Amino acid sequence: MRKVRTLFGKSYEEFTDAIERFHGWKAPGVVIGGLMVDLAQEHIGPGVEADAIVETIHCLPDAVQIFTPCTYGNGWMKVVDWDKFALTLYDKKTLEGVRVWLDLEKTRRFPDVYNWYMRLVSKAQIPLDVLLKSIEEAGRGMLSSAPVQVIRHQGKLKKGRIEICSRCGEAYPASQGDACLACRGKGYYERI
Ligand code: ZN
Repeated sequence: MRKVRTLFGKSYEEFTDAIERFHGWKAPGVVIGGLMVDLAQEHIGPGVEADAIVETIHCLPDAVQIFTPCTYGNGWMKVVDWDKFALTLYDKKTLEGVRVWLDLEKTRRFPDVYNWYMRLVSKAQIPLDVLLKSIEEAGRGMLSSAPVQVIRHQGKLKKGRIEICSRCGEAYPASQGDACLACRGKGYYERI
């Protein structure tokens, strides 16, 4: 079976070590995500300023953040919560890019990966090192890609006018109304 070549100039082990440093552990989802980013970057080519759109909040955003300049905070990566294992890198000027996804049909050839992704086996049934080995063997063989034109979720989110909340004195976006969301009972916390 074909082994993956170097990834971002790293051996597979260095590649998974980089993931562990950022993500806390060698999560299979981030490892597959790294393979996806590598494939997408190859299609995009060097010298293109690429933004990213990621289709799940799980694992995949970290692969983009580790291996591209795009982060959640700098606005070059958008994340939509569709729970699909797919991402797009695109030229921020032309909005043309490539979407890469975990192709379930192809993944069937790699039962460990398939069973893990479809949640057919528990973590105890498939040790992490076995799964990581299967992912290495599968490499791009479990991925598909297609050229796309981005039509939504691109570009910077505009920042609006800032107001000072009359109740808590904290700054908040004026678009939220006459007090901040927290003071209007819509916050995620209660003071204790
Ligand atoms: Zn307030």
